[in-house]
Formats: sequence, C-alpha cells, structure tokens
Amino acid sequence: MRTSIATVSIAGDLAEKLAAISAAGFDGVEIFENDFLAFDGSPRDVGQMARDAGLTITLFQPFRDFEGLPEPQRSRAFDRAERKFDVMQELGTDLMLVCSSVSPVSLGGIDRAAADFHELGERAAKQDLRVGYEALAWGRHVNDHRDAWEIVRRAAHPNIGLVLDSFHTLARKIDLSSIRSIPSDKIFIVQLADAPLIDMDLLYWSRHFRNMPGEGDLPVREFMQAVAATGYDDYISLEIFNDQFRGGSAKAISVDGKRSLVWLMDQVRREEPALDASVPSMPDRIGVEGIEFIEFAANPEGAKSLGTLLATLGFAEAGRHVSKDVTLYRQGEINIVVNTERQGFAHSSFVVHGTSAYAIGLKVEDAAATVVRAEALGAEIFHQRVGPDELSIPAIRGVGGGLVYFLDGKTDLAKVWDIEFKVIATTPDSGVGLTRIDHVGQTMFHEEMPSWLLFYVSLFRTTKTPMVDIVDPAGLVRSQVIEGLDKRLRLTLNGAESRRTLAGHFIAETFGSGVQHLAMATDDIFAVAKKLAANGFEPLQISMNYYDDVEARFGLDPDLADRLRVSNILYDRDDKGEFFQLYAPTFGEGFIFEIVERRGGYAGYGAPNAPFRIAAQKRMMRPKGMPRVGSA
Ligand code: MG
Ligand code: MG
Repeated sequence: MRTSIATVSIAGDLAEKLAAISAAGFDGVEIFENDFLAFDGSPRDVGQMARDAGLTITLFQPFRDFEGLPEPQRSRAFDRAERKFDVMQELGTDLMLVCSSVSPVSLGGIDRAAADFHELGERAAKQDLRVGYEALAWGRHVNDHRDAWEIVRRAAHPNIGLVLDSFHTLARKIDLSSIRSIPSDKIFIVQLADAPLIDMDLLYWSRHFRNMPGEGDLPVREFMQAVAATGYDDYISLEIFNDQFRGGSAKAISVDGKRSLVWLMDQVRREEPALDASVPSMPDRIGVEGIEFIEFAANPEGAKSLGTLLATLGFAEAGRHVSKDVTLYRQGEINIVVNTERQGFAHSSFVVHGTSAYAIGLKVEDAAATVVRAEALGAEIFHQRVGPDELSIPAIRGVGGGLVYFLDGKTDLAKVWDIEFKVIATTPDSGVGLTRIDHVGQTMFHEEMPSWLLFYVSLFRTTKTPMVDIVDPAGLVRSQVIEGLDKRLRLTLNGAESRRTLAGHFIAETFGSGVQHLAMATDDIFAVAKKLAANGFEPLQISMNYYDDVEARFGLDPDLADRLRVSNILYDRDDKGEFFQLYAPTFGEGFIFEIVERRGGYAGYGAPNAPFRIAAQKRMMRPKGMPRVGSA
C-alpha cells in the first residue's frame, strides 16, 4: 500500500509543500489545480520538482462539471478535458479526477453520463491517460459512490474508473458493504479524510472541517476495511480541506497525515489479514497501566518553592538520585521528580520554559514495544547519555517537545526508584491522604490539539471523548480527554485560543505547550482538606456565590454545602456519581495542583466548575512584576 496526500491539505507554496510531503515519507502527491496555477513555472517544472522530491504525482484534480451536459456545453467540456490532458502529460501523471457535476444545466441520466465517460475514455486512451470519477456528496444528480460506480460500469472503458473518497461516502452514511462488490481494478484511487461530527451543510463541512483519519468521528477504518476487502492495494491518498491545517506548519501537518495513514492501515491489517503483505507490521496499541511520575525541571530557587508547596501537600522527600541533582517526592503511589541538573535535557528545558513539568513517566505493558510502535508512527525517539549507575529508560518527544518516558514491569525499568535513587527514610504518616495521579492536563495551542490527540490515540489503547468548550473569562479553551480503556491513564488536552486565557498565559509565559495541571486522587477529600489546613495550606479561594448556586442547582444537603464552602471544595455530579475538587493556588506561571475525589463512578473532570475555578485562579495571580503566590 502506497501513501499520497493532496497539495491542498497543507500550507505553503508548492515547493514548501512538496518538501514537507516528501520529508514525512509519502510516496505520492495529488496536484491541485490551484496550487499549480499559483506556481510560477511550467507544468513540466512542477513535474520535475515532484520527481526531485522523490514523489509520484498520483493524480491531477479537480475536473468539474463534465458529465450529462447538453450541447454546446458538452463539446466545450470535452475541449476543456483535452487541454487538461496536455497539462497532465507535461506534469507526468496519468490520472485525472473528475468529480460529479454540480452544474445546474447538467441533465442527469446514468446512461447519458456513462456515454460521456466512454467517449472521454477513448480520448484519454489515445494519450495513455486514465480518468477517475468521484461522487461528491453534494453532486447535482450523482452524490453516492454506488451511482458513480454504475456509471463507470456502464461506461465500460478500461481507462475509466472510480474514485472513492471516505468523506463523501461517510458524510452521507452510505452502506459500506456496497464497496465490497466493486472490482479492485476499477478503483483508480482511494482518498481518505475524517471529520468531526457537526451537523451542517455538506459542502461547507467538507471544505473547512475535514481532518486526518483518526482525528475526527467518522468510521474511516470501516470504510478502509471495505476497500481492502476488494483487494485494492494501490495508493491511499489524503485529501484534507481544513482551515487550521492550511494555516499551520506544513511539516507538522504532513507528519500527522503520514501517522494517520500508518495507524489506519495497522488497524485494517488486523481486521483484513489478506493485506498483511503490503502493510508493515508493528506492535499493537500499548496499554498504559498508570502515570508513574511527573518530572519538573527547575533551578534551585524554583525547586525550593516547589518543594515547600509539595511538603504542604503532604509529600515527603523520598529519595535522591545517586549521581544527579534530582529529588524524588512521594505520597501514596504519586511520584514527583524535581530535576535541578545544570546539564542535559532537563536543564535545556528549564532554560527555555522556566520551572515546568517537562516529562511524564508512563507505566506501560511493554516499554520496548512502545518505542517500536512510536517509531513506526513517526514519533521522535529521545536519546540522552546514560550514566554508569542509571537505567536506559526509553522516551519519546511529546507535547511542547517535552518527554514521555516508558517504564514497564517486564524489565528492571519499574525498579528505577530502587536502582537510581538513595532512599531517604520517611515517616509513613506524613501524607495527607493523596493516593495516586488521577489525571494530567496538557495545555497547547488550539491548532495543536488534533496532532496530540492522534499522537496519544494511535500509540496507546485509549479513547477520546468529544471536545468540550471551557469558558475562561478571557476566551474559550477547548478541552478533550484521552482515557485508557481501564481509566488508569487520563489525560486532558486543553487548547487555548487566546493568550489572555489562563491556558494562553501559561503557554506564553512558559514559551510553549506542556503539562500544566496535575490532579491527584484521594478517597476522602474532607479529611485531606483538614490535614492540609493543619500544614498551613491555603486553598484556592472559591467565590461564595458559587456555593449558593451549587447548593440550589443540585439540591444539596445544607450541611454538605457548608462543608464544601468552608474548605473551598468544588462539586459536580453526573448520572453515576459525585465529584469533589480542591485546588492549590497556581504555582509559577500557572501550574495547577488539584485534588479530586470521585464517588460512585463519576466519569468527568468537573468541566462545569472550570469557569469559576479559572476566575479564582486569575484573581490570585498578581499583575506582572508583583510576586505571585507560590512563585518560582
Ligand atoms: Mg475527493
Ligand atoms: Mg482537572
């Protein structure tokens, strides 16, 4: 199976696009007429550029409003096609995509269209060219691949075939089993796109909201399985119209595109064993057994104020690294590592981002397999010199260039704390009752969210929840959750649209995306609040109006409402259970420590409370130049 992408999918001028597509490892490229018209050079130059970049031009498109026309429009359409055939000869591609007509003068009629295509096939054959017919979801008479296939079948010409496009078929919810009976040699190319489920005009949805397979909500895998069942094993080509992508980085979008296809075909291969030979094999998606640690990079002052806050939160200093300036804080199963080394990646990260959580350690089923799969998906593998007394812990680059480390129980990796750290004797009851990491929040620019969703979901056995909007007083923050199948991994991705939001401020002040939020679980949040108060902890102050509202909204027992109010605990409820949240004031440039208690299988993250929590956090952050609460 070979991969291709349409030039329209990414940003830049034609040279930039071709370079990015080639670097991401695609085999081919669809040349969009507009990219070619905007290019200051001959079709022959474009063809040469593509070949120099190691890319085959899979097709030239679009050719519109061809079939079913009355005269004189019909003859003119054939003349137009002949002109494009000449362009294709110069470009060096043999396939033209004709999309179903939207012309108000087209007459319809399956046999009329078939006759037109037969004649076009005759003309194409003289030049050794082929024509593929695609049903647009909003075509005037043909908007269903089954009708397009019937036209191609009746055209009965070897140079006329079908183009299948997952968006057009899935947007109209057309029965996918209808694809399985199409002969594979009549499918000239398969175009792929996903999209979020939004109820809107089909054309507008298609032109602005398509995204990479796996980034949206359409059953692209089932579509591709049906295609694979025909025996088709030629190009699969991304055709993504997306405003964000067209404004984004050509390189990053190309990498995402390639990743989406590799992941898609890995899923299809597992369902359609006949494909095995043409799709590279890799380990299946990896199960995550938990978040083993969070590591901060800091300077000595930052480490000191972080250490003070952690002590107040009931963390004990549990170990020191045998050879590095690295301290382990522990409570329950929560490990927080603070790295003040003056060299290596942590230090570079500190220099760029200031005190920040630059690494996450995940406990996975198989660390080595994780790296193999990550590499196959185009992730950047991280290498750092390993000291004689250290384990070589595999890692890849994640959000904001930070690290994701992998530990497993199969090897010595899970023993990292015993092997690399000198244990400091601690009093076992210094903790306040925090048990484990509930979730980690990563903040990023809104445009980056699809990339990182794809990153996590393609690598780990996870699902994504629908995107929700969180109202920050200064603008919207988009939030989407990734969960491991047994909830031992919960990640919230927050996309900031405005720099004035708390999330946007965090990105601006820490110079990039990263971990902003650590939520730790307890079985008794009221007991925790009491112990924290005894430690001198001052929680984030929640507005009294919030409690009046919550009490009324949920019909809370006045007693419970009072206990929430006194301890600044936020409350939420879903159909399964209850949720309690207690926040520390923001640390540094907006890092958030949260304590949560889930009762009775509550599945959410307290999203309805976010606006009140954010408002409280902003109240506590001082204007620039003034000391911040818990400032590093
Ligand atoms: Mg298409
Ligand atoms: Mg949270």
